[in-house]
Amino acid sequence: MLRRNRWTAALLAMAFGLPVGCAPRVEKRFERHVRYLADDAREGRGVGSRGLELSADYIAREFKRAGLMPAGDQGTYFQAFPMTLHRELTDEARLSLGAAAGPLALGADFTPLSFSSNEAFSGEVVFAGYGIVSEDPKWDDFAHVDLKGKVALMLTGEPAGWADKDGFPTRHSLLQHKVYNAKDRGAAAIVFVDPASTNGPDRLPRFDADSPDDYGLPAFQATRAVAERVLAAGGAAALPSLEADLAAGRMASKALAGVTADGAAGFVRRESPTWNVCGMIDGEGPLSNEWIVLGAHYDHLGIRKPMGRKFKGGKAVADDEPPQIHNGADDNASGVAGLIEVARMFQRDARPRRSVMFVAFSAEESGLHGSKFFVANSPIPVDRIVGMLNMDMIGRLNPDTRELTVFGVGCGEGFGEILRWASAGLNLKLLTTDDPGGRSDHAAFVAKKVPSLHLYTGSHTDYHRPSDDTHLVNFAGGAEVTRLVYGIARELADREARLEFVEVKSSEEQRGMTGFRVVMGLTPNYTDTSQPGMGVDGVSPEGPAQLAGMQAGDRILSIGGKMVNNVYDYMASTRNNKAGDVVEVVVIRGGERKVLSVTLAGAR
Ligand SMILES: [Zn+2]
Repeated sequence: MLRRNRWTAALLAMAFGLPVGCAPRVEKRFERHVRYLADDAREGRGVGSRGLELSADYIAREFKRAGLMPAGDQGTYFQAFPMTLHRELTDEARLSLGAAAGPLALGADFTPLSFSSNEAFSGEVVFAGYGIVSEDPKWDDFAHVDLKGKVALMLTGEPAGWADKDGFPTRHSLLQHKVYNAKDRGAAAIVFVDPASTNGPDRLPRFDADSPDDYGLPAFQATRAVAERVLAAGGAAALPSLEADLAAGRMASKALAGVTADGAAGFVRRESPTWNVCGMIDGEGPLSNEWIVLGAHYDHLGIRKPMGRKFKGGKAVADDEPPQIHNGADDNASGVAGLIEVARMFQRDARPRRSVMFVAFSAEESGLHGSKFFVANSPIPVDRIVGMLNMDMIGRLNPDTRELTVFGVGCGEGFGEILRWASAGLNLKLLTTDDPGGRSDHAAFVAKKVPSLHLYTGSHTDYHRPSDDTHLVNFAGGAEVTRLVYGIARELADREARLEFVEVKSSEEQRGMTGFRVVMGLTPNYTDTSQPGMGVDGVSPEGPAQLAGMQAGDRILSIGGKMVNNVYDYMASTRNNKAGDVVEVVVIRGGERKVLSVTLAGAR
């Protein structure tokens, strides 16, 4: 039986349509927070930006006005942590490929690759073909060479004839695969070279300083001119003849006698401090040494080239849009607005029995860094956190369907009952999912076995696009979600017993999904599992789905004869396809079944 306590009166008021604490004011303030955080002057709240600092100051000010005590470092609202922003090449970057290759200049003759690790290396050089290991076609560039402690000289790309009829390369051409193949065989480093058959000049790729990847092995690229000198010195044939052998299926790998290499990528990581903003309410009585955490991330993508795929005539094309401000009004100015307003609602009512921590997380978009740092360096004992509520994207409540998705209902014994009760009298239709999912900050708490919910008004075609802006936010809807979150939080804070954590097997983990090889150009609905199939929230202009006649609002029932009931089924359905394959997609539209033929595009 749930405790109904001091705020029952407030709940009754809501049930009778009397606004709690003057509802229009919650909505007005919700709007003000979103407008401030999603203003162009906040520069999209990228980590390291002035806009993010201003946002942190705003949130701290609002926490203070809401009566929260500082819960950050040294009596402030701020919990600082360092973030790696980018890497810079220095004069320390060096590569030697033996006397025959001569002295090599950074940028002209070689470059470290952006996924390289940084340690110095040395070793004998082995030519290792394309660095490919494959079952079908049967292929192993490493079969007759020993790479242990050696430096692998490898071609980028793949043998002639492997690409599909549209010219899309297979996944064997991915440098990441090649690096891991070499790493598995004990290589000390890799030097890539483009095949002689590559169109265009003998150029090096740009070192991408913003890439977060580190594949754990020093990795370089040298020019073809340098590689030819190295191959000749080691008694191997020239590149065109090696490539011809490989194209004919003859392995060409070979230790290059007497050629040794050494070097180091020599970049430095530039770090910037960033901050979680933390405020708290002390509980009253014997349960006050237990905690509820309420969270929402306040960072977003900053100023960058828009992501997302563009299509032309059914094929994915590179897009050349200039960098734009990503204001992230829904993602996640809306969640922060909710966080501030829940704090105010707590202050209006009596002191809770458990203590409540409010955290606006930074660096969520780049990998949940703020929440991970918080649980690893928590100002409160993590085993005394009895529940976590995460608001990430609560600004797009559909005024007709009123649907709010709640992830994680299965991970706390009793969440379902609390939700039913807390949503009574509110104009929301809850879509609940047992799996908490791993896509936002609650995941760090779930990993510590804290029963956690993620509240979310759903995906849309503006997700992670510059168009996720303030005018599209439903402020009244956000305020309604905020009331629900307060109701849940209040119950978690005041109930006698804490919720038992329940381990939920994530459907994402079960299927071990990695990467896409083909795309359809549609925005799946991640959340509505109330009917069979998977909803389609949008189709990309000129993408394969649209060209096949698919429309937003369709529900996909099957792809290529495989049942589709959620986004994981959807991703798994085409995992063995390649670009150009035509798959039969069965959809339901307005109660009518339609069969569409979708020509898959290669992922770019
Ligand atoms: Zn987000």
